[in-house]
Formats: sequence, structure tokens, C-alpha cells
Amino acid sequence: MIVGVPKEIKNNEYRVGLTPPSVRELTQRGHQVLVQKNAGGEIGLSDEQYAAAGATMVDTAKEIFARAEMIVKVKEPQPGECAMLGEGQILYTYLHLAPDPEQTAALVKSGAVCIAYETITGAGGGLPLLAPMSEVAGRMAIQAGAAHLEKSKGGMGLLLGGVPGVAAGHIVIIGAGVVGANAMQMAVGTGARVTVLDKNVDRLRHLDLIYGNRISTQYSNAHSIEEAVLSADLVIGGVLVPGAAAPKLVTRDMISRMKKGAVVVDVAIDQGGCFETSHPTTHADPTFVVDGVIHYCVANMPGAVARTSTFALNNATIGHAVALATKGWQKALMDDPHLKNGLNVCKGKVTYAAVAQALGYDY
Ligand code: NAD
Repeated sequence: MIVGVPKEIKNNEYRVGLTPPSVRELTQRGHQVLVQKNAGGEIGLSDEQYAAAGATMVDTAKEIFARAEMIVKVKEPQPGECAMLGEGQILYTYLHLAPDPEQTAALVKSGAVCIAYETITGAGGGLPLLAPMSEVAGRMAIQAGAAHLEKSKGGMGLLLGGVPGVAAGHIVIIGAGVVGANAMQMAVGTGARVTVLDKNVDRLRHLDLIYGNRISTQYSNAHSIEEAVLSADLVIGGVLVPGAAAPKLVTRDMISRMKKGAVVVDVAIDQGGCFETSHPTTHADPTFVVDGVIHYCVANMPGAVARTSTFALNNATIGHAVALATKGWQKALMDDPHLKNGLNVCKGKVTYAAVAQALGYDY
């Protein structure tokens, strides 16, 4: 099969659909991979590395869309890219269609076979092509929080781990899923006091077995959240209620009573955020202040560490990419019900129930 990798064109997107090692996985199986020149240049993946992995470097996205049987990307296609998709061409990328009627209509019109990373399921449950980005965001949350506790970034001037003779800071993590567990691993590494809250006691049990008395676990309710947040220097919000907006667990009143110069990092901002005072921000201007508390609410945190995120994403996507290229989409989807769950639009029809329901398509 001919596989194409255009350079991402969404604002501030530096990730790339395939890394050179992923290209090699395809070329060594006899597939041809077309990569747009400088697709990975911004994150240290040179055209020479791609060529050495067997890629054919091409000048324009137009040429890639015209020649490739499967397009592998990261972000949802922009309108110009949708217009270049052809009947029966495979599109394999993040789509997030439910809140995006324009993109959905464009993909339906294209006649392409559109497989969304975010709805592919895993044999062990969960959404394995979303998990790597939650891992990245969870780990980054502590780094971002620590940086913004510094005086020059508006914080109270606190070193999370303290020093001998000076007490460490207190990190509170709400939600002990993928984001929360990864944030916690980094939090423990700082030497700070760490409290983690979740409604799912099995998640807390799991973390308690790993970290023992280096962390404190709390069942999440209004009382425990208030108590933890009021003594916190850094609060990470990483909750998710599948298919729903994030619950506003930290109220405006709690924020107003927090320590001045404390930091909150609302990772769940892409689902509306779990702090009542949150609104989405960008990497260019990541924070704002409410009642003396620094809010970091970047909706696409992994974009800041695009190189790490690209490799993490490729680890999760390459297996299915190889299957699609080698078997063709029909057989690959028939053989693997989890990959089939990724099919969102197929040859002019919406094929994913939640998207069809959200946007009023027949299903
Ligand atoms: P997950 O499903 O693995 O974990 C969510 C956890 O929240 C679960 O353990 C659940 O029990 C817990 N939870 C639900 N209600 C709760 C409550 N009332 N109190 C305490 N805990 C509660 O999800 P995840 O992969 O960790 O993702 C968390 C959020 O982070 C999602 O909204 C996801 O979209 C978002 N995210 C954002 C970015 C970003 O760049 N901002 C990147 C990746 C993920």
C-alpha cells in the first residue's frame, strides 16, 4: 500500500503522524511511505532520517493526498485537507467528530474511510490511543505546576520538595486515572507531600499498594476536596466522567480561600474543566489569576512536548497502521473489533453511534 504522511498544518502543531522507526515498520513490509519534506523538522526528525527509514520525501501535501491510499496524521484534517481526501482513501488520525459538524460533513462528502484514534478500544479495556496523551499531560502537569509556583511566574515562590530544615509543599491530585496516576508518579519524585482523591476506591487501592505511606489517598467528596484544596500549594485536576462534561469539583468559594500564589492545573479543561473558575488557555498564554491563585488550563498540553508525544502516540498507533496497510481496511477491521470501533465515517456514512446521535445522522 502507499501510505502518506503530510506535515501537520493546525496552528502550533509540531507532532507528526509517523516517526522514522514507524516508517521503517511499514517499508520493511514492502509498503511505500510518502512523507512531506520537513514534516518532523521542528521536533528533530530530519528528512535524512525519514529517507534512511525508506520513506520517499515529497514536496507538497497535495501530492501526498493525490497518491496515497492511506493518510496517517495526528490532528483532525483541516478544511483544505478534507477537500483533498478521495473516495475510499483511508484517513487514520484523531478526529473528535461529535462536537464538529463541519468536519463531519466534509468527511462524509469525501467518501473516505475515516478511522479515529480516540474511539479505538483496547483488549484490556480503555482507549489505548488516548492513554499516551493522558500520560504525557499527567506528567507535564507537575512540571507546569512547579514552574508556575516560582516567583517569576506569579507563584508564591515555593520549591515543592523543600530543603533540609524547610517543609515540602503539598500537591493534591483529583482523579486517579491515567492523568492522575502519572501526575502522582512525578509528584512523589519531587519530595512533596502528596494527596490523591478519587471516587473509585479500586484506583486508590491500586496506588496505595504501589506507593504505601508516601501518598495519602482520600475518597472524593465535597468535604475531602475542600479540606485538601485549602491546604494545597499545587492542585491537579484530572477527573473524567466518560461522555459527560467534567464535574465542577473545586468551587469558586474554595478557590477564594486557597493560599495566595498557589497553582491549579486543570488537565480536564478539554472536557470543560473541574475547577469552577477555569477557562481554556493556550501555550502562548497559559495562565490567568483568580483570587490570587494561578490557573494553568492549557487544552492541548502534549503539544508542548511534541517530540515525546509523537513517539508515545506512534507506539500506540503503529500496530493498527501496519494491519491496515497490509490487510486493507475491510479485512483489518473484520479481524479486529477494537480497530473497528475506530471507524467513524465510511464512504459517505457516519458509522459511529455517538457521532451520528450528536450530529443527527442516520446510523
Ligand atoms: P481516566 O478515565 O483514566 O481517569 C479519570 C478518573 O477520574 C477516574 O479514575 C475516575 O474515577 C475519576 N473521577 C470521576 N469523577 C470523579 C470525582 N467526582 N472525584 C474524583 N475523581 C473522579 O481519564 P484520564 O485519561 O486520566 O483523563 C482525565 C482528563 O484529562 C480527561 O478529561 C482527558 O480528556 C483530559 N486530558 C487533557 C489533556 C490536556 O492536554 N489538557 C491531555 C490528556 C487528557
